[in-house]
Amino acid sequence: MHFQRLRLAGFKSFVDPTEFRIEPGLTGIVGPNGCGKSNLLEALRWVMGANSAKAMRAGGMDDVIFAGASNRPSRNHAEVSLTIDNSARRAPPAFNDHPVIEVVRRIDRGAGSTYRINGREVRAKDVQLLFADASTGASSPALVRQGQISELIAAKPQNRRLILEEAAGVSGLHSRRHEAELR
Ligand code: ATP
Ligand code: MG
Repeated sequence: MHFQRLRLAGFKSFVDPTEFRIEPGLTGIVGPNGCGKSNLLEALRWVMGANSAKAMRAGGMDDVIFAGASNRPSRNHAEVSLTIDNSARRAPPAFNDHPVIEVVRRIDRGAGSTYRINGREVRAKDVQLLFADASTGASSPALVRQGQISELIAAKPQNRRLILEEAAGVSGLHSRRHEAELR
């Protein structure tokens, strides 16, 4: 699964609809301090189902919505959309008949998040599982945060194992087993 396009509207500093095409290979984001580089990476994690406000550098999840600036009023919702090339057909069976998969997460102030995959409303869990198998999930080590390397070195063995399991792409299996056991 290859990320093709990221679209943001009302997410943090990206108040106006903004679209990024993601080419195959390594992608770097450069720009002056405060221009929104980290916000962009957070948008990527967010649309993949990240559910910790702290990981978004936010007090509560509503804080990802554009909070206003001296010349612009705040917004009441934010939306991020991620388009994935699935021509290699690596997605889980439920979505695998689509050559292109679009995942959309929207948050309305005070009302929480909703998710859609190719236009159909789904649970957060469905979105997390879609990415967990491809080991590209919201907490994937493929998206390296500032300070994450030293965290890996200093981590306790159990926590280090979780990071390595994400990298190996087996964490999706653990979540599925957990879901199956709950039924
Ligand atoms: P650095 O190079 O310093 O790491 P950066 O490019 O990573 O900078 P970000 O941290 O992504 O920059 O962006 C910070 C900017 O985003 C700040 O100006 C902050 O005010 C703005 N910002 C964050 N959350 C919101 C929000 N909810 N509404 C409006 N602006 C926001
Ligand atoms: Mg930054």
